[in-house]
Amino acid sequence: MPGFELIGDSERKEVQKVLDTGVLMRYGFDGMRKGHWKAIELEKALSKRMQTKYTQVVSSGTAALTVAMASAGVGAGDEVILPTFTFVASFESVLALGAVPVLADIDDTLTLDPEAVKKAITARTRVIMPVHMCGSMADLEALKAIADAHDILLVEDACQAIGGSFDGKPLGSYGDLGCFSFDYVKTITCGEGGALITNNETYYKNADHYSDHGHDHIGKDRGAEKHPFLGYNYRISELNAAVGVAQLKRLDDFLGLQEKHYGILEEAIRDIPGVTLRRVPAKGIQNYSFLSFFMPDEGIAKKAHKALSEAGVDGCFYWYDNNWHYHREWQHLKKLITLGKLNREVQEQLPDYETQDFSKSDHWMGRTISMLIKIGWTEDEVNARAARLSEVLSAV
Ligand SMILES: *Cc1c(COP(=O)(O)O)cnc(C)c1O
Repeated sequence: MPGFELIGDSERKEVQKVLDTGVLMRYGFDGMRKGHWKAIELEKALSKRMQTKYTQVVSSGTAALTVAMASAGVGAGDEVILPTFTFVASFESVLALGAVPVLADIDDTLTLDPEAVKKAITARTRVIMPVHMCGSMADLEALKAIADAHDILLVEDACQAIGGSFDGKPLGSYGDLGCFSFDYVKTITCGEGGALITNNETYYKNADHYSDHGHDHIGKDRGAEKHPFLGYNYRISELNAAVGVAQLKRLDDFLGLQEKHYGILEEAIRDIPGVTLRRVPAKGIQNYSFLSFFMPDEGIAKKAHKALSEAGVDGCFYWYDNNWHYHREWQHLKKLITLGKLNREVQEQLPDYETQDFSKSDHWMGRTISMLIKIGWTEDEVNARAARLSEVLSAV
């Protein structure tokens, strides 16, 4: 997954262009910039690659999720359905808006189970947020049908799956809004950064204003711009955007390497009795950033994870016990531990996660191991890794 493995001359060149002008901010200073508008260049390139009309680049993936929902009018007391397996950023972005994160089970896709989503819908639900974890997607067709039937938004968190697709559409472009992260460990990185994509002009305009203190961006005098509504600062800097411009040009090369390495590793474990692969929905193509597989039960999965680590096969994750990605360790959310007071809606409406039954998620997660696919591996390294992986899994 990490684009940082191959940062090089093209990234340096783009950053140098910005440093040569000295204009590190994405807005204003037109005369000094010598024609360099890196954030805008990145937005145009993303719109093209993702086949959507609009892109707003922001300061992080978390910011992208927050701005995306804010742009569509999500606010205090609105409920957002998200999966038990995700990154903490998902519920952070919801809470930042005063909205209520409603967790729902995952299935063997390792993403939102449409049946669990149906059960979680209430009169207050405003958003279904599938999170395309570890390079592969939720059943977007089923989720869109549910969203349409209830007139609620589908917001895709595609932070871990940039470059994958569903039904011929790039991940992120299928829902009403889609979000990407370019943090340091994502498929393409710009150090810190993120983006939201949409075909909805109103959401886009709102996102453009909201992410820059509500500025309406009309005219050439920033100081004289009006503020049609309250906003915040989620801007990206030109330095970060410049790295993103270079990395996006390399996305399809990175994806090609990931797919190649994934193929060799998958081949090595496909026929091992008791090992099954994570399900990819029929119309989906992953971005191949992780190889995720199920062991027959939790005990064997724990044993396999330990054995892999002892055999020197690094980069294997057992998410079931992970602090950041799985509901079992989110005590700060379950107990609502915050520095200051939370808005009343969240305090009153947050489901009781201490007692809620997520045994369906636990059933899949307890058996799952994911291996990070690196793009910098040599062919010999991948082959050696495949042999060791097969050996260790066969033995346990
Ligand atoms: C990385 C990530 C985010 C947040 O991105 P940042 O840029 O680190 O804020 C959100 N969701 C998922 C699934 C992620 O992996």
